[in-house]
Amino acid sequence: MDSAFFRSWLAQAAAFVEAQRDHLTQLDAAIGDADHGINLSRGFGAIMAALPEASTPTPGSVLRLAGSTLISKVGGASGPLYGMAFRQAGKALADASDVDAQALAAALEAALAGVQKIGAAREGEKTMVDALAPAVSAFSKALSGGEQEADAFDALAAAAAAGAQATVSMQALKGRASYLGPRSVGHEDPGAASTALILAALRDVARGNL
Ligand code: ADP
Ligand code: MG
Repeated sequence: MDSAFFRSWLAQAAAFVEAQRDHLTQLDAAIGDADHGINLSRGFGAIMAALPEASTPTPGSVLRLAGSTLISKVGGASGPLYGMAFRQAGKALADASDVDAQALAAALEAALAGVQKIGAAREGEKTMVDALAPAVSAFSKALSGGEQEADAFDALAAAAAAGAQATVSMQALKGRASYLGPRSVGHEDPGAASTALILAALRDVARGNL
């Protein structure tokens, strides 16, 4: 997977975010402040504007630019969290011009570690971590179990979607939704939903590429 692959991933993620913008905002209206779709739409729009202007010859440079753009353009909790995720993933890929699925798995592990470093959320606290953590571990497990790459990408996206769905019954213990206490139960976490979208975009682009 080269830099063009990673640009395609971001373009697909931007398209999914745009298509689901109002849905993500509605999820945030229920347990937050109704801006998650707006925040991510602004952020991914800014990434799509920044990419053609910058030199991003390697996968790592694509992801680092995405991360820095999200940090500088998106307010709210999700900007720094997703920004950190993409930056740490980009750092993990260093200057390689082509990365294999194992390297991508390591980059996704680094993304998760970055999110948890600044957000301090564990699984079960109703955040994006509840989609990202199971997805990362399903992907790594599929690869180390010798599964086909296409199946590993399917496992990644399926685990993210299931993880997002599982946030419905959780009580939020981190972020703005935690202010609601038990009233946060019964709603899908917007950040977990957007993580599932971003990883579905990765699966789709990878499947189209295999
Ligand atoms: P804000 O909450 O500042 O309005 P957004 O609405 O864009 O920002 O993003 C909210 C999402 O951010 C939540 O749904 C949750 O998934 C995620 N989030 C909030 N706090 C944390 C945290 N400490 N760790 C991980 N994710 C978090
Ligand atoms: Mg919000």
